[in-house]
Amino acid sequence: MKKIAFLFSIIILFCSCELTNEYIVNKNKCNDCGKCYKECPNNMIVREINYIDGPDTFYVARIRTNRCVGCGECQEACIKNNGIENNAIIEK
Ligand code: SF4
Ligand code: SF4
Repeated sequence: MKKIAFLFSIIILFCSCELTNEYIVNKNKCNDCGKCYKECPNNMIVREINYIDGPDTFYVARIRTNRCVGCGECQEACIKNNGIENNAIIEK
């Protein structure tokens, strides 16, 4: 019975991995426009410091992948905002 439960959990894990895409932010392309933060249904996108240049602080988006469901809403928002050539959110 334990073997069946183990096999079942492996299958569930495999299926969920197949269905979930992981998205990451390309820090070199993100302009901190804020569109993706608003679109994420799980509030998985945070704003963090990219670098500091003298008195200026520059921020970028970061996706916390632990509860990302791979819906792609953030990527769509970023593409619409920046144009396809400058899409800052990419699939891992
Ligand atoms: S939508 Fe794109 S450019 Fe705007 S904050 Fe998010 S990742 Fe950065
Ligand atoms: S893919 Fe969906 S859940 Fe994941 S960070 Fe983007 S908007 Fe949020």
